[in-house]
Amino acid sequence: MLYLSTRGHPDRKHFCEILLEGLAPDGGLYLPERYPQVDDATLTRWRGLAYADLAFEILSLYIDDIPAGDLRAICRKTYTEEVFGTREIVPLKKLEDGLILEALSNGPTLAFKDMAMQLLGNLFEYELGRRGEELNILGATSGDTGSAAEYAMRGKKGVRVFMTSPHGRMSPFQQAQMFSLQDANIHNLAVEGVFDDCQDMVKAVSNDLEFKRKWRIGTVNSINWARLVAQVVYYFAGYFQATTSNDQKVSFTVPSGNFGNICAGHVARMMGLPVAKLVAATNENDVLDEFFRTGTYRVRGSADTFETSSPSMDISKASNFERFVFDLLGRDGAKVKALFGDALNTTGRFELPEQVKVAREQYGFASGRSTHANRLDTIRDTWERFGVMIDTHTADGVKVAREHLQAGVPMIVLETALPIKFAATIVEALGREPERPAKFIGIEDLPKRVQVMPADVAQVKQYIVTHCQ
Ligand SMILES: *Cc1c(COP(=O)(O)O)cnc(C)c1O
Repeated sequence: MLYLSTRGHPDRKHFCEILLEGLAPDGGLYLPERYPQVDDATLTRWRGLAYADLAFEILSLYIDDIPAGDLRAICRKTYTEEVFGTREIVPLKKLEDGLILEALSNGPTLAFKDMAMQLLGNLFEYELGRRGEELNILGATSGDTGSAAEYAMRGKKGVRVFMTSPHGRMSPFQQAQMFSLQDANIHNLAVEGVFDDCQDMVKAVSNDLEFKRKWRIGTVNSINWARLVAQVVYYFAGYFQATTSNDQKVSFTVPSGNFGNICAGHVARMMGLPVAKLVAATNENDVLDEFFRTGTYRVRGSADTFETSSPSMDISKASNFERFVFDLLGRDGAKVKALFGDALNTTGRFELPEQVKVAREQYGFASGRSTHANRLDTIRDTWERFGVMIDTHTADGVKVAREHLQAGVPMIVLETALPIKFAATIVEALGREPERPAKFIGIEDLPKRVQVMPADVAQVKQYIVTHCQ
Protein backbone atom coordinates (compact mmCIF):
# COMPACT_ATOMS: atom_id res chain seq x y z
CA MET A 1 0.00 0.00 0.00
CA LEU A 2 1.37 3.38 -1.04
CA TYR A 3 0.31 6.84 0.05
CA LEU A 4 -0.28 9.95 -2.08
CA SER A 5 -0.89 13.61 -1.38
CA THR A 6 -4.34 15.17 -1.76
CA ARG A 7 -2.73 17.99 -3.77
CA GLY A 8 -1.35 15.84 -6.57
CA HIS A 9 2.38 15.59 -5.71
CA PRO A 10 3.83 12.72 -7.82
CA ASP A 11 5.71 11.00 -4.94
CA ARG A 12 4.35 7.81 -3.39
CA LYS A 13 5.39 6.68 0.08
CA HIS A 14 5.10 3.73 2.44
CA PHE A 15 3.35 3.89 5.80
CA CYS A 16 6.45 4.17 7.97
CA GLU A 17 7.78 7.02 5.82
CA ILE A 18 4.69 9.15 6.50
CA LEU A 19 4.29 7.95 10.11
CA LEU A 20 6.67 10.55 11.53
CA GLU A 21 5.77 13.30 9.03
CA GLY A 22 3.05 15.95 9.04
CA LEU A 23 1.85 17.43 5.76
CA ALA A 24 2.96 16.16 2.36
CA PRO A 25 5.66 18.31 0.67
CA ASP A 26 3.03 20.17 -1.41
CA GLY A 27 0.97 21.04 1.69
CA GLY A 28 -1.56 18.26 1.06
CA LEU A 29 -2.60 15.42 3.35
CA TYR A 30 -1.62 11.80 2.88
CA LEU A 31 -4.18 9.20 1.82
CA PRO A 32 -3.82 5.61 0.64
CA GLU A 33 -3.80 5.17 -3.16
CA ARG A 34 -6.99 3.12 -2.82
CA TYR A 35 -9.24 1.85 -0.05
CA PRO A 36 -8.86 -1.91 0.58
CA GLN A 37 -12.22 -3.64 0.11
CA VAL A 38 -13.69 -5.81 2.85
CA ASP A 39 -16.12 -8.45 1.58
CA ASP A 40 -18.92 -10.27 3.35
CA ALA A 41 -16.80 -13.29 4.27
CA THR A 42 -14.16 -11.04 5.82
CA LEU A 43 -16.76 -9.12 7.83
CA THR A 44 -18.07 -12.43 9.13
CA ARG A 45 -14.59 -13.57 10.09
CA TRP A 46 -13.87 -10.27 11.85
CA ARG A 47 -17.10 -10.34 13.88
CA GLY A 48 -15.71 -12.66 16.49
CA LEU A 49 -12.33 -10.98 16.95
CA ALA A 50 -11.03 -9.29 20.06
CA TYR A 51 -10.47 -5.53 19.53
CA ALA A 52 -6.67 -5.80 19.35
CA ASP A 53 -6.88 -8.52 16.70
CA LEU A 54 -9.47 -6.56 14.72
CA ALA A 55 -7.10 -3.59 14.86
CA PHE A 56 -4.31 -5.79 13.52
CA GLU A 57 -6.48 -7.05 10.62
CA ILE A 58 -7.49 -3.52 9.58
CA LEU A 59 -4.06 -1.95 10.06
CA SER A 60 -2.32 -4.70 8.13
CA LEU A 61 -4.36 -3.71 5.04
CA TYR A 62 -2.67 -0.29 5.23
CA ILE A 63 0.79 -1.11 6.56
CA ASP A 64 3.15 -3.24 4.49
CA ASP A 65 6.45 -2.18 6.00
CA ILE A 66 6.12 -3.62 9.52
CA PRO A 67 6.37 -7.43 9.81
CA ALA A 68 3.00 -8.99 10.70
CA GLY A 69 4.23 -10.46 13.98
CA ASP A 70 5.51 -7.08 15.15
CA LEU A 71 2.33 -5.26 14.14
CA ARG A 72 0.17 -7.77 15.96
CA ALA A 73 2.32 -7.42 19.07
CA ILE A 74 1.98 -3.61 18.91
CA CYS A 75 -1.83 -3.89 18.65
CA ARG A 76 -2.04 -6.35 21.53
CA LYS A 77 0.20 -4.20 23.69
CA THR A 78 -1.96 -1.12 22.92
CA TYR A 79 -5.57 -2.25 23.23
CA THR A 80 -5.71 -3.93 26.64
CA GLU A 81 -8.43 -4.09 29.26
CA GLU A 82 -5.92 -2.63 31.70
CA VAL A 83 -5.51 0.57 29.63
CA PHE A 84 -9.07 0.95 28.29
CA GLY A 85 -11.07 -0.34 31.24
CA THR A 86 -13.18 -3.06 29.58
CA ARG A 87 -12.69 -6.26 27.63
CA GLU A 88 -14.67 -4.82 24.68
CA ILE A 89 -12.43 -1.67 24.70
CA VAL A 90 -15.32 0.32 23.08
CA PRO A 91 -18.53 -1.04 24.70
CA LEU A 92 -21.98 0.11 23.55
CA LYS A 93 -24.55 1.61 25.90
CA LYS A 94 -28.18 1.81 24.79
CA LEU A 95 -30.22 4.98 25.40
CA GLU A 96 -33.70 5.04 23.84
CA ASP A 97 -34.72 2.57 21.10
CA GLY A 98 -32.46 2.92 18.10
CA LEU A 99 -29.97 5.25 19.81
CA ILE A 100 -26.75 3.84 21.21
CA LEU A 101 -23.58 5.37 22.70
CA GLU A 102 -20.20 3.88 21.78
CA ALA A 103 -17.76 4.52 24.63
CA LEU A 104 -14.43 5.73 23.27
CA SER A 105 -13.27 7.61 26.34
CA ASN A 106 -12.20 5.09 28.91
CA GLY A 107 -8.52 5.37 28.07
CA PRO A 108 -5.85 7.10 30.20
CA THR A 109 -7.04 10.70 29.57
CA LEU A 110 -10.79 10.04 29.31
CA ALA A 111 -11.21 11.32 25.75
CA PHE A 112 -11.41 9.44 22.46
CA LYS A 113 -8.03 10.75 21.31
CA ASP A 114 -6.43 8.00 23.43
CA MET A 115 -7.82 5.42 20.98
CA ALA A 116 -5.38 6.54 18.29
CA MET A 117 -2.67 8.21 20.34
CA GLN A 118 -1.91 5.13 22.44
CA LEU A 119 -1.22 3.22 19.23
CA LEU A 120 0.84 6.09 17.86
CA GLY A 121 3.06 6.03 20.95
CA ASN A 122 3.86 2.36 20.40
CA LEU A 123 4.35 2.81 16.62
CA PHE A 124 6.71 5.75 17.21
CA GLU A 125 8.79 3.84 19.73
CA TYR A 126 8.99 0.86 17.37
CA GLU A 127 9.94 2.84 14.25
CA LEU A 128 12.42 5.15 16.01
CA GLY A 129 14.06 2.13 17.61
CA ARG A 130 14.35 0.43 14.24
CA ARG A 131 15.97 3.51 12.70
CA GLY A 132 18.10 4.33 15.75
CA GLU A 133 16.65 7.85 15.75
CA GLU A 134 15.10 10.23 18.25
CA LEU A 135 12.13 12.57 17.92
CA ASN A 136 11.14 15.68 19.85
CA ILE A 137 7.41 16.22 19.61
CA LEU A 138 6.45 19.87 19.88
CA GLY A 139 2.76 20.62 20.26
CA ALA A 140 0.18 23.15 21.33
CA THR A 141 -2.89 22.13 23.27
CA SER A 142 -5.96 23.59 24.88
CA GLY A 143 -6.59 20.28 26.64
CA ASP A 144 -7.44 16.90 25.10
CA THR A 145 -4.76 16.50 22.44
CA GLY A 146 -1.84 17.43 24.64
CA SER A 147 -2.79 15.16 27.48
CA ALA A 148 -3.49 12.24 25.12
CA ALA A 149 -0.08 12.76 23.49
CA GLU A 150 1.72 12.93 26.84
CA TYR A 151 0.06 9.79 28.21
CA ALA A 152 0.86 7.97 24.95
CA MET A 153 4.52 9.01 24.86
CA ARG A 154 5.44 8.96 28.57
CA GLY A 155 8.40 6.69 29.22
CA LYS A 156 8.78 5.82 25.52
CA LYS A 157 12.35 5.37 24.31
CA GLY A 158 13.58 7.86 21.70
CA VAL A 159 10.70 10.30 22.17
CA ARG A 160 10.43 13.56 24.11
CA VAL A 161 7.31 15.70 24.30
CA PHE A 162 7.36 19.50 24.62
CA MET A 163 3.73 20.56 25.02
CA THR A 164 2.77 24.22 25.15
CA SER A 165 -0.57 25.25 26.66
CA PRO A 166 -2.10 28.63 27.58
CA HIS A 167 -1.10 29.33 31.19
CA GLY A 168 -4.07 29.13 33.57
CA ARG A 169 -6.66 28.56 30.84
CA MET A 170 -7.22 24.83 30.91
CA SER A 171 -9.66 23.31 33.40
CA PRO A 172 -8.08 22.40 36.77
CA PHE A 173 -8.67 18.73 35.95
CA GLN A 174 -6.91 19.02 32.58
CA GLN A 175 -3.98 20.88 34.13
CA ALA A 176 -3.66 18.25 36.83
CA GLN A 177 -3.78 15.45 34.27
CA MET A 178 -0.86 16.88 32.32
CA PHE A 179 1.25 18.60 34.93
CA SER A 180 1.23 15.69 37.40
CA LEU A 181 3.23 13.51 34.98
CA GLN A 182 6.71 13.06 36.40
CA ASP A 183 8.26 11.24 33.43
CA ALA A 184 11.62 12.69 32.39
CA ASN A 185 10.66 12.73 28.69
CA ILE A 186 7.53 14.86 29.18
CA HIS A 187 7.85 18.65 29.32
CA ASN A 188 4.92 20.98 30.02
CA LEU A 189 5.40 24.59 28.91
CA ALA A 190 2.68 26.89 30.26
CA VAL A 191 2.75 29.93 27.99
CA GLU A 192 1.66 33.37 29.13
CA GLY A 193 -0.87 33.87 26.33
CA VAL A 194 -3.82 32.19 24.64
CA PHE A 195 -3.98 28.96 22.64
CA ASP A 196 -3.30 30.79 19.35
CA ASP A 197 -0.01 32.10 20.77
CA CYS A 198 1.01 28.53 21.54
CA GLN A 199 0.07 27.39 18.06
CA ASP A 200 1.91 30.31 16.43
CA MET A 201 5.08 29.45 18.36
CA VAL A 202 4.90 25.81 17.29
CA LYS A 203 4.54 26.95 13.68
CA ALA A 204 7.44 29.37 14.01
CA VAL A 205 9.73 26.66 15.38
CA SER A 206 8.63 24.18 12.67
CA ASN A 207 9.20 26.78 9.95
CA ASP A 208 12.82 27.15 11.05
CA LEU A 209 13.88 24.19 8.93
CA GLU A 210 17.45 24.12 10.16
CA PHE A 211 16.38 24.05 13.80
CA LYS A 212 13.73 21.49 12.99
CA ARG A 213 16.22 19.15 11.35
CA LYS A 214 18.98 19.62 13.88
CA TRP A 215 16.74 19.00 16.87
CA ARG A 216 14.49 16.41 15.18
CA ILE A 217 11.24 18.28 15.80
CA GLY A 218 8.01 16.43 14.99
CA THR A 219 4.29 16.71 15.68
CA VAL A 220 1.34 14.46 16.50
CA ASN A 221 -1.55 16.56 15.21
CA SER A 222 -4.81 15.20 13.92
CA ILE A 223 -3.78 15.20 10.25
CA ASN A 224 -1.40 12.29 10.96
CA TRP A 225 -2.63 9.35 8.87
CA ALA A 226 -1.69 6.77 11.52
CA ARG A 227 -4.08 8.44 13.96
CA LEU A 228 -6.84 8.41 11.41
CA VAL A 229 -6.45 4.77 10.46
CA ALA A 230 -6.40 3.73 14.12
CA GLN A 231 -9.83 5.37 14.43
CA VAL A 232 -11.26 3.30 11.57
CA VAL A 233 -11.13 0.26 13.87
CA TYR A 234 -13.82 1.40 16.30
CA TYR A 235 -16.33 1.98 13.50
CA PHE A 236 -16.03 -1.72 12.67
CA ALA A 237 -16.09 -2.70 16.37
CA GLY A 238 -19.23 -0.59 16.94
CA TYR A 239 -20.93 -2.10 13.89
CA PHE A 240 -20.22 -5.67 15.00
CA GLN A 241 -21.63 -5.04 18.48
CA ALA A 242 -24.79 -3.34 17.18
CA THR A 243 -25.69 -5.96 14.54
CA THR A 244 -25.95 -9.73 14.20
CA SER A 245 -25.66 -10.01 10.42
CA ASN A 246 -23.86 -8.15 7.63
CA ASP A 247 -27.19 -7.35 5.91
CA GLN A 248 -27.86 -4.77 8.58
CA LYS A 249 -26.81 -1.14 8.33
CA VAL A 250 -26.02 1.33 11.11
CA SER A 251 -25.51 5.10 11.16
CA PHE A 252 -22.97 7.05 13.18
CA THR A 253 -23.17 10.54 14.65
CA VAL A 254 -19.81 12.08 15.43
CA PRO A 255 -19.15 15.18 17.57
CA SER A 256 -16.84 16.94 15.12
CA GLY A 257 -14.15 19.58 15.09
CA ASN A 258 -11.21 18.97 12.78
CA PHE A 259 -13.09 16.22 10.89
CA GLY A 260 -10.55 13.55 11.92
CA ASN A 261 -12.94 11.25 13.74
CA ILE A 262 -15.72 11.33 11.15
CA CYS A 263 -13.20 11.05 8.31
CA ALA A 264 -12.24 7.66 9.77
CA GLY A 265 -15.94 6.75 9.48
CA HIS A 266 -15.82 7.76 5.83
CA VAL A 267 -12.78 5.51 5.30
CA ALA A 268 -14.58 2.59 7.03
CA ARG A 269 -17.57 3.12 4.75
CA MET A 270 -15.33 3.27 1.65
CA MET A 271 -13.84 -0.09 2.70
CA GLY A 272 -17.31 -1.62 2.61
CA LEU A 273 -18.62 -1.28 6.17
CA PRO A 274 -22.45 -1.15 5.85
CA VAL A 275 -22.98 2.44 7.03
CA ALA A 276 -26.20 4.29 6.19
CA LYS A 277 -25.43 7.82 7.40
CA LEU A 278 -22.44 9.65 8.81
CA VAL A 279 -23.76 12.62 10.74
CA ALA A 280 -21.38 15.44 11.67
CA ALA A 281 -22.49 17.20 14.86
CA THR A 282 -20.97 20.63 15.43
CA ASN A 283 -21.28 23.15 18.21
CA GLU A 284 -21.69 26.91 17.62
CA ASN A 285 -18.55 26.69 15.45
CA ASP A 286 -20.59 25.26 12.58
CA VAL A 287 -18.18 25.33 9.62
CA LEU A 288 -18.99 21.70 8.78
CA ASP A 289 -22.74 21.95 9.31
CA GLU A 290 -22.79 24.93 6.96
CA PHE A 291 -20.95 22.94 4.30
CA PHE A 292 -23.18 19.86 4.46
CA ARG A 293 -26.32 22.01 4.39
CA THR A 294 -25.31 24.54 1.70
CA GLY A 295 -22.18 23.38 -0.11
CA THR A 296 -20.25 26.45 1.04
CA TYR A 297 -17.07 25.87 3.01
CA ARG A 298 -16.16 29.07 4.80
CA VAL A 299 -13.21 29.34 7.18
CA ARG A 300 -13.89 31.54 10.22
CA GLY A 301 -11.70 34.38 11.43
CA SER A 302 -10.67 34.54 15.09
CA ALA A 303 -13.43 37.10 15.80
CA ASP A 304 -16.13 34.59 14.85
CA THR A 305 -14.56 31.48 16.32
CA PHE A 306 -16.41 31.04 19.61
CA GLU A 307 -15.25 29.70 22.97
CA THR A 308 -17.93 27.18 23.86
CA SER A 309 -18.70 24.61 26.53
CA SER A 310 -17.64 21.86 24.12
CA PRO A 311 -14.18 23.39 23.66
CA SER A 312 -12.53 20.49 21.81
CA MET A 313 -14.81 21.28 18.86
CA ASP A 314 -13.97 25.01 18.79
CA ILE A 315 -12.37 25.23 15.36
CA SER A 316 -12.18 27.89 12.66
CA LYS A 317 -11.44 25.36 9.92
CA ALA A 318 -11.52 21.57 9.80
CA SER A 319 -7.99 20.39 9.03
CA ASN A 320 -8.93 16.86 7.89
CA PHE A 321 -11.80 17.99 5.65
CA GLU A 322 -9.46 18.13 2.65
CA ARG A 323 -9.25 14.34 2.71
CA PHE A 324 -12.97 13.92 2.15
CA VAL A 325 -13.09 16.65 -0.50
CA PHE A 326 -10.33 14.80 -2.39
CA ASP A 327 -12.60 11.73 -2.62
CA LEU A 328 -15.65 13.87 -3.36
CA LEU A 329 -13.87 15.46 -6.34
CA GLY A 330 -12.94 12.09 -7.83
CA ARG A 331 -9.44 12.22 -6.31
CA ASP A 332 -8.41 15.12 -8.52
CA GLY A 333 -5.33 16.60 -6.81
CA ALA A 334 -5.25 19.68 -9.06
CA LYS A 335 -8.82 20.62 -8.11
CA VAL A 336 -8.09 20.10 -4.41
CA LYS A 337 -5.01 22.30 -4.69
CA ALA A 338 -7.09 25.02 -6.37
CA LEU A 339 -9.58 24.94 -3.48
CA PHE A 340 -7.40 24.41 -0.41
CA GLY A 341 -4.13 25.86 -1.66
CA ASP A 342 -5.52 28.86 -3.54
CA ALA A 343 -9.20 29.73 -2.92
CA LEU A 344 -9.04 29.34 0.87
CA ASN A 345 -5.87 31.40 1.07
CA THR A 346 -7.29 34.28 -0.95
CA THR A 347 -11.03 34.39 -0.18
CA GLY A 348 -11.31 32.04 2.82
CA ARG A 349 -14.10 30.07 1.14
CA PHE A 350 -15.19 27.86 -1.73
CA GLU A 351 -18.50 26.54 -3.03
CA LEU A 352 -19.40 23.01 -4.13
CA PRO A 353 -23.20 23.25 -4.52
CA GLU A 354 -23.55 20.24 -6.83
CA GLN A 355 -20.98 18.01 -5.17
CA VAL A 356 -22.49 18.47 -1.72
CA LYS A 357 -25.58 16.64 -2.98
CA VAL A 358 -23.30 13.74 -3.86
CA ALA A 359 -21.77 13.97 -0.37
CA ARG A 360 -25.24 13.56 1.09
CA GLU A 361 -26.77 11.06 -1.30
CA GLN A 362 -23.83 8.87 -2.24
CA TYR A 363 -21.48 9.21 0.73
CA GLY A 364 -24.27 9.34 3.33
CA PHE A 365 -23.20 12.58 5.00
CA ALA A 366 -25.61 14.66 7.07
CA SER A 367 -25.07 17.28 9.75
CA GLY A 368 -26.52 19.34 12.55
CA ARG A 369 -25.59 21.98 15.07
CA SER A 370 -25.94 22.23 18.84
CA THR A 371 -25.72 25.23 21.17
CA HIS A 372 -24.93 25.69 24.87
CA ALA A 373 -28.66 25.56 25.69
CA ASN A 374 -29.09 22.33 23.64
CA ARG A 375 -26.09 20.86 25.43
CA LEU A 376 -27.53 21.56 28.90
CA ASP A 377 -30.97 20.18 27.91
CA THR A 378 -29.47 17.03 26.42
CA ILE A 379 -27.22 16.34 29.42
CA ARG A 380 -30.19 16.82 31.76
CA ASP A 381 -32.59 14.76 29.68
CA THR A 382 -30.14 11.87 29.24
CA TRP A 383 -29.43 11.84 32.97
CA GLU A 384 -33.08 12.01 34.00
CA ARG A 385 -34.43 9.44 31.56
CA PHE A 386 -31.59 6.92 31.42
CA GLY A 387 -29.38 7.63 34.45
CA VAL A 388 -26.48 8.13 32.04
CA MET A 389 -24.18 11.13 32.47
CA ILE A 390 -22.69 12.38 29.21
CA ASP A 391 -20.10 15.06 28.55
CA THR A 392 -20.70 18.26 26.61
CA HIS A 393 -19.27 17.03 23.29
CA THR A 394 -21.20 13.78 23.40
CA ALA A 395 -24.30 15.84 24.21
CA ASP A 396 -23.87 17.75 20.95
CA GLY A 397 -23.75 14.36 19.23
CA VAL A 398 -26.88 13.01 20.96
CA LYS A 399 -28.82 16.20 20.19
CA VAL A 400 -28.00 16.06 16.48
CA ALA A 401 -28.37 12.24 16.25
CA ARG A 402 -32.01 12.52 17.33
CA GLU A 403 -32.66 14.72 14.27
CA HIS A 404 -31.44 11.98 11.91
CA LEU A 405 -32.99 8.74 13.22
CA GLN A 406 -34.31 6.28 10.61
CA ALA A 407 -36.60 3.37 11.46
CA GLY A 408 -34.73 0.06 11.51
CA VAL A 409 -31.25 1.63 11.40
CA PRO A 410 -29.45 1.79 14.78
CA MET A 411 -27.82 5.19 15.32
CA ILE A 412 -24.48 4.97 17.14
CA VAL A 413 -23.29 8.19 18.78
CA LEU A 414 -19.56 8.27 19.44
CA GLU A 415 -18.92 9.27 23.07
CA THR A 416 -15.80 11.43 22.79
CA ALA A 417 -15.06 12.36 26.42
CA LEU A 418 -16.20 11.65 29.98
CA PRO A 419 -18.12 14.32 31.93
CA ILE A 420 -15.43 14.74 34.59
CA LYS A 421 -13.27 16.62 32.06
CA PHE A 422 -15.90 19.36 31.75
CA ALA A 423 -17.26 19.46 35.27
CA ALA A 424 -18.37 23.12 35.33
CA THR A 425 -20.97 22.58 32.59
CA ILE A 426 -22.19 19.36 34.18
CA VAL A 427 -22.78 21.25 37.42
CA GLU A 428 -24.63 23.92 35.44
CA ALA A 429 -26.85 21.28 33.82
CA LEU A 430 -27.44 18.89 36.72
CA GLY A 431 -26.58 20.80 39.88
CA ARG A 432 -24.14 18.07 40.88
CA GLU A 433 -20.54 17.11 40.31
CA PRO A 434 -19.81 14.44 37.69
CA GLU A 435 -18.62 11.01 38.70
CA ARG A 436 -14.85 10.69 38.92
CA PRO A 437 -13.10 7.42 38.03
CA ALA A 438 -11.18 6.11 41.04
CA LYS A 439 -7.73 6.57 39.52
CA PHE A 440 -8.34 10.34 39.21
CA ILE A 441 -9.36 11.01 42.80
CA GLY A 442 -7.17 13.74 44.26
CA ILE A 443 -5.07 14.40 41.14
CA GLU A 444 -5.38 18.16 41.61
CA ASP A 445 -3.28 17.79 44.79
CA LEU A 446 -0.36 15.96 43.17
CA PRO A 447 2.96 17.78 42.67
CA LYS A 448 3.10 19.60 39.33
CA ARG A 449 5.89 19.57 36.77
CA VAL A 450 5.48 22.61 34.53
CA GLN A 451 7.61 25.49 33.25
CA VAL A 452 5.84 28.85 32.91
CA MET A 453 7.28 31.07 30.15
CA PRO A 454 6.39 34.09 28.04
CA ALA A 455 5.08 33.67 24.47
CA ASP A 456 8.59 33.97 23.06
CA VAL A 457 9.84 31.63 20.33
CA ALA A 458 13.51 32.07 21.29
CA GLN A 459 12.79 30.89 24.84
CA VAL A 460 10.90 27.82 23.62
CA LYS A 461 13.82 26.91 21.36
CA GLN A 462 16.27 27.44 24.19
CA TYR A 463 14.21 25.23 26.47
CA ILE A 464 14.19 22.45 23.87
CA VAL A 465 17.95 22.69 23.28
CA THR A 466 18.69 22.60 27.00
CA HIS A 467 16.47 19.57 27.58
CA CYS A 468 17.60 17.51 24.60
CA GLN A 469 21.03 16.63 25.87
C1 LIG B 1 -10.86 16.26 19.54
C2 LIG B 1 -12.25 16.12 20.08
C3 LIG B 1 -13.40 16.21 19.25
C4 LIG B 1 -13.30 16.53 17.76
O1 LIG B 1 -12.74 15.50 17.01
P1 LIG B 1 -12.23 15.76 15.51
O2 LIG B 1 -11.51 14.54 15.14
O3 LIG B 1 -11.33 16.97 15.58
O4 LIG B 1 -13.44 16.03 14.66
C5 LIG B 1 -14.64 16.00 19.80
N1 LIG B 1 -14.78 15.76 21.13
C6 LIG B 1 -13.73 15.66 21.96
C7 LIG B 1 -13.95 15.41 23.40
C8 LIG B 1 -12.42 15.84 21.47
O5 LIG B 1 -11.36 15.76 22.31
